[in-house]
Formats: sequence, structure tokens, C-alpha cells
Amino acid sequence: MSEDRSQSLLELLMNVSREVATALDLRTVLQRLLYAAMQHVGGERSSIIVMDDAGKPVDATIVYGKQFHEHTTQQLRDTVERGLAGWVVQHRKPALVPDTSKDTRWLRRDDDLAERSGAKSAICVPLMARERLVGVLTLVHSAPNAFTEEHLNLMQAIADQASVAVLNARLYTESQRTARVMTALAESAATINTSLEMPDVWRRVLNQTLQALQVETVALALMDTLNTDLIFHAAAGHNSAAIPGKRIAKGQGLIWQVIHTARGLVVSAPKKNPLYAESDNFIGVDMRAVVIAPIHSQGRVIGVLIAINPLSGAFDPDALLVMTGLGSLAGTTIQNAQFLERLQKAHQRYRELFEDSADPIVITDLAGRVLEANRQAVLLSGYPSEALRAMRMDQLHEVKWNKIGANYEFLKRDDECTYESVLFRLNQESMPIEVHAHRMEFEETDSVQWILRDITERKELDVLRDDMIAMIYHDIRSPLGNIVSSLELMNGMIPEDETLRTMFNIARNSTARIQRLVNSLLDINRLESGQPIVDQHAIDPLVLVRESLRDVEPAASGRQQKLENKAMSVLPLIWVDVDMIHRVFINLLENGIKYTPVGGQIEIGAQTTSGTAVKFWVRDNGPGISAADRDRIFDKFTRLRAKNNPSGIGVGLAFCKLAVQGHGGQIWVESELGKGTTFWVTLPVAQKKATGQLKRQTGRLVIKEDRIP
Ligand code: ADP
Repeated sequence: MSEDRSQSLLELLMNVSREVATALDLRTVLQRLLYAAMQHVGGERSSIIVMDDAGKPVDATIVYGKQFHEHTTQQLRDTVERGLAGWVVQHRKPALVPDTSKDTRWLRRDDDLAERSGAKSAICVPLMARERLVGVLTLVHSAPNAFTEEHLNLMQAIADQASVAVLNARLYTESQRTARVMTALAESAATINTSLEMPDVWRRVLNQTLQALQVETVALALMDTLNTDLIFHAAAGHNSAAIPGKRIAKGQGLIWQVIHTARGLVVSAPKKNPLYAESDNFIGVDMRAVVIAPIHSQGRVIGVLIAINPLSGAFDPDALLVMTGLGSLAGTTIQNAQFLERLQKAHQRYRELFEDSADPIVITDLAGRVLEANRQAVLLSGYPSEALRAMRMDQLHEVKWNKIGANYEFLKRDDECTYESVLFRLNQESMPIEVHAHRMEFEETDSVQWILRDITERKELDVLRDDMIAMIYHDIRSPLGNIVSSLELMNGMIPEDETLRTMFNIARNSTARIQRLVNSLLDINRLESGQPIVDQHAIDPLVLVRESLRDVEPAASGRQQKLENKAMSVLPLIWVDVDMIHRVFINLLENGIKYTPVGGQIEIGAQTTSGTAVKFWVRDNGPGISAADRDRIFDKFTRLRAKNNPSGIGVGLAFCKLAVQGHGGQIWVESELGKGTTFWVTLPVAQKKATGQLKRQTGRLVIKEDRIP
């Protein structure tokens, strides 16, 4: 190469370099490069395809004479995969084609036919920058053999000179694009998230989509709860008024394609798309182009965001990216709004339950400061709601620190505490209350819920009961004792007269019955308050059975009933309060006698079972007790309603149950209507050897002395 030519080549390259390096916009760089190539190398047609790092064509410019054309990436894919450019991309080497009709690398098109433009010559070179393939540059001359090796070298030199500028321009464009998408999404995120009210969220999502994509219409549809239909909830822009409320049933079409594949779509001329279905035209007017993006929530597609007809005529390459971003954003926001809606509903429900609760409820923090009080608490305490909220729990009632722990310590560690206390009401009155406190979360803070129940009535009943017991003790029991001992004394004194003896016995038996009833009432009270049975002795069950039979004998013979003893002859000693169990047996036998018709049969029996207990039974052939009533009869003051039911007060079986269970035994009933009833009782076998002699003392059965056999 002569020095002159080298000089001019150098100048040329420097010019090219300056030309392309002064621009940053990719299109400008490409146009200048093509222009320089045609000017200095020749040819009427040139093209450049730019590729990303993955080798995918991202942009292209073509020049015919003085006209620039831009191609879409889809159109370019063909050229890069096949044809001369494809060969250069594959081999990363320049190619010279002196006659296109003779080179197989040339992708023949219709205008290559001999009768049209015919054979041409072409040059194609790779654009390599920092060992990366940035693109391919092709130059075409309308006549064959117009290009030589020299042209090829010059072309490659120009390409080498410009490739870094092309790469920089591409990177710049990419970063610009990312920045644009990011800005659009960030701005949308900021706006969309300002509200969590559902319709507001939809409106904001749509406005942002409308702005970011510059389209005529946008719409948002969500799946219904059954996941079968898509329902349009909101729309904005042209012709949007009729869209909300429309439904698209699960099926075919572009929209359902997006839901099924969970991937967005950009479609120009949707009606010509093979996936198009009638349901896609929900807007009812002509759709030139559409972007549909899925709305995701928790890994599931819950709906779609649709943008229709870009104002510029075609969507730019970022549209899908921006829409997909907006779709994700909408998904998260909609999900948050749904959570909030559910939370608000639950909160509202809790508030209603709290306010309307029949119980007075106070909520405090963990230091006992009142945070909330419901209507009933206001009524009960007499304090207005505001005043209550300024109080501490220990000002409102007498806190039982032993139950709740110093500084509410037990409550803090999640214990539930219940105790009886006194409420200090506004008017200085105090009121007996039952307090039930436990820790809970209230409006996201650790709190304590206090239920305060008015127990005035219960307390009054307690007092009444205590009074009654005191009355029984002092006003009935002692005079009754006097009557019994007087009768015992008289027993040896009355003259031998049959009528007198009969009357005396009636008086004695009736007094004994009253005494048993009084003693049973006192026992019920004692056993219910949890007092243990202390006066226990080892006693032969047969003796108890015989004594009980003896006591009820007059009543049975009065009703011509047969009384039978079916107890086994040898039984282990039992460990019982003799007088109490004696009354249990008498109760069961008297019930049998009372409820069984005249002439019936009543038996009492006993047998050993496990060696630790003796099992007794009292059986009659009376009317029986229905299954529904069997559980109730052991409750206090329960009497079954039946015609001609003999009198009673309904405490006999309640006493039997408490007495037997107080001994660690069991009591139950078996019965068949019309056939009869059997009561079963188990009582513990005595572990101690000592056994007592039974004696009657003022009508009661007591142990005379314990002796070792
Ligand atoms: P009372 O006999 O004073 O009514 P109880 O507590 O002894 O009270 O019995 C409760 C109820 O159980 C009785 O009212 C009666 O209806 C029913 N009952 C008890 N024993 C028998 C029985 N052997 N046969 C039929 N019903 C019985």
C-alpha cells in the first residue's frame, strides 16, 4: 500500500471513528456507520444488525440508496439464522461474495431472479468489540464482481473502527431502556401503593398503565372465587364505561392463553392471531394492538391487566416488560388490599362481639392500664367509658396478687387466672365479682382480657344456704336429738300395751326418718364444699345390709312388699363412714319401696369383685326409669314428673352419689321401663384389720369400739 493511500485510509478511519463516536443513540450510530461504509467502500444497499450478548438480534437498520428503514427483531431473526449474515455470525469471519447467484451462502429472494435485479456482489463483515460479536454489517452492489479483497479489507477496517462505538451505543440504549422501565414501575409502585382500598387500587393501577404505555384503553380483570370466570372490575380510557362487570368464562383466546401460561403477550392485529377468540374482543371496538399481562399473587395468576391500542400505532419493545412489572405490582397490591379487607372485617367482627358481649370485658396492657372497656363493663362499673380508660385494673377491683402474680407476672407467662373479688363501683359501692383474666393480642399489642362477672346473686344464695344450714343445725337438729333420746328413754318405760307400742314405734320410726333427712342435707353441704369423710371404720358389709333391711321392714310390710337379702355370706370388711353408708342403703331401699307398687319385690345384695371393692345392689320390680331420666335423677332436687308419683324432695339420690363418691366408690343405675330398676354401689375394702361393733345411738348407727380380730 502506498504511503498516500495509507494516509488517506488512516484519515478515513479517523473520520468514521469521530462520526460514530460522537453519537450515543444507537440508531444514529448505525446510520452514520452505514453511510460511511457506502460512501467509502461502495454499493447501493447496506444493512447492519445489532446483537445482544446472547447473540439475539436487538436492532437493525437498512439503507436503500438514501432511505433508512428500521426492521423489527422478528424479521431480523431469519436473516441472522440463515443467509450470508448468518454465515458470518457463525464463523466470525468476513465474507466476500463476488457473484450472489453463484454463492450458496446468499439467501435468495424473489428480487434476486435474473429478470429482476439479478446477480449482485456483496460484502459482509462481523463487528467485534472486546472479543464480543456486536453485529454484522452487509454491503450489496447491484452488479456482480464490483467488490474486491481490498474492499473487503477496507470494510473490515471500518467495522473494527466502529464496533466499540456500536457496543457502547447498544449498552447505553439498554441502560436507558432499563432506566425507563424502572422509573415507570417505581413511579407506579409509589402511586399504586398509596391506598389499600380495593376500588382505589384498581383505579390507580389502570391510571399508571394508561400513562406508562400511552394507550387508548386499559382494563383489569380478576378470577372469580370459583376460578372459572374472569370478571372485569375496572377499566379506563376510550370505550371503557361498559367494561366493568363483564365476564369471560374459562376457555380459549388470547386472554386465557396468558392465564394458562402465566406469561404476558404483545399482539398486533389480534384478530389475525391464531389464538384469538371472540371473547377477546370484550371492548367491542376494533383492537389494533394489545398487551395482556398476568396479575400474580402468591405464585398464582389471579387476573390480567390489558392495554389496548397504543396512541403511537405500535407498542414499543418495553411495553411487555412494563406491563409485566405493572401486573406483578398490581398482584401484590391487590393481595395486600384483600388481606387488609379481610383483616378489617375480622377486626370489625371482633369489635362487635366485644361491644355486644353479655359479659363485662375490660382490656388492659400488661401493666394493668385499661385500654378498652365494653358496654357491659361501663354499665357494671358505673364509670363512663372515658374515665374507665384512664384507670388501672387495681383501682377497678381488688386484684388477687397471689393468683395473678406480682406485676401480673403469671398473666405475662400466659396463665389463665380465675378468682372471686370485689369491684369498686363509681358510687363507692362494692360488688362481688368473678374475675377471669388471660393474655391476648389486641390491636397488635400484648394485652390482657378481663371478664368481670357479677356474682351478687350467687353470693346471696350462698348466704341463704349458710343460713339454712345454721337453721337446721340449731333449730331442728338439737331439738330433734332431744326427741330421739327421749323416745329411747321412753322405750323401756312404756307399759306393755299393743296399741301404745305401735304408736310409739310410729313416732320412733318417723323421727328416725326426719333425722336421716336432716343428716343427709348436712352431709350434702359438707361433701359439696369438698370436706373429706373422716369417720371411717372397717365394718362387715353384711351387718350394714341387715341393719338397713331392719330399718325399712315396717315400710315394706305396710305395702305388702317382699324384702330379700341376696348378699353373699362371706364378704371382706369395707372402710366406710357407717352412719352415712347406712343412710345410702336406706335411701335406695326406701326408693324401691316407695316407687314399686303394692305387692312388689325389693332385694338388696352384695358381692366381692376385684378384692379392692365390694359391689352392692338394690333391685326392685317397679316401673323403671327411662334412659333420658337416668342421668338426671342423681342431681339435687330432681324429681321425675309422673302421675301418682309418691312425695319426696329429690335429694335422696344426690346424697347417695356424693356419699359414695366421697368414699372413692361408684354409683350407677340400670333400669328397664315396666320391669324394674337396679342401683349399683361399690365401696372400698378395708386395708386395716380393726373391725367395729355396731351400736344404735339416738337413732344413729355408730361403731361402739374398734377391735382387732
Ligand atoms: P325423691 O325420692 O325424694 O324424689 P330421689 O333423689 O331419691 O328423690 O330420687 C329422684 C327421682 O328418681 C325420684 O323422684 C323418682 O322419680 C326416681 N327414682 C328413684 N328411685 C327410683 C326407683 N327405684 N324406681 C323408679 N324411680 C325411681
